[in-house]
Amino acid sequence: MASLAFGRLPVWTAEAVLVCALTLLGRSEASFPPIAFVSEVPGDVSAAAEAFARVNDRRIFVITSSPLFQRLQRGPNRCGDLDSVRKLASVLIHEEAHVVKSASESDAYAAQLTSLAALGAGPGHPTYSEVRRSMRQTLSRRRPEPVRVMVMR
Ligand SMILES: [Zn+2]
Repeated sequence: MASLAFGRLPVWTAEAVLVCALTLLGRSEASFPPIAFVSEVPGDVSAAAEAFARVNDRRIFVITSSPLFQRLQRGPNRCGDLDSVRKLASVLIHEEAHVVKSASESDAYAAQLTSLAALGAGPGHPTYSEVRRSMRQTLSRRRPEPVRVMVMR
């Protein structure tokens, strides 16, 4: 039983984690579309997604169960993991491009990569490479029509 009691580490709230990314961007929450937190990845969204946007919905959905968000919520110091904060910030920029500018996937990734470079993680940085890899994967499986995919667990 002791391991259960001691295994419960404090967790930063989702809102506190979000503020880290907004602060890094020098942006207020009000300057973004409404940001909603969801704890599970919907069946029609890539299982690896950290956030998503919907057509005809002005909200950005941030997935709090993603490894990225979990890392941020469980970090010993709030906002202390710069690489993860930067990644989350760039994810917000990506989704903002979809919601505000109806950006295509390639334009949303371009905005994300530009923001990563502006935040000090440009070409050659592991986070930049990771996002470029996701971009190539996403663009290579792009379909002409949105297709709903059921995920069996
Ligand atoms: Zn996208």
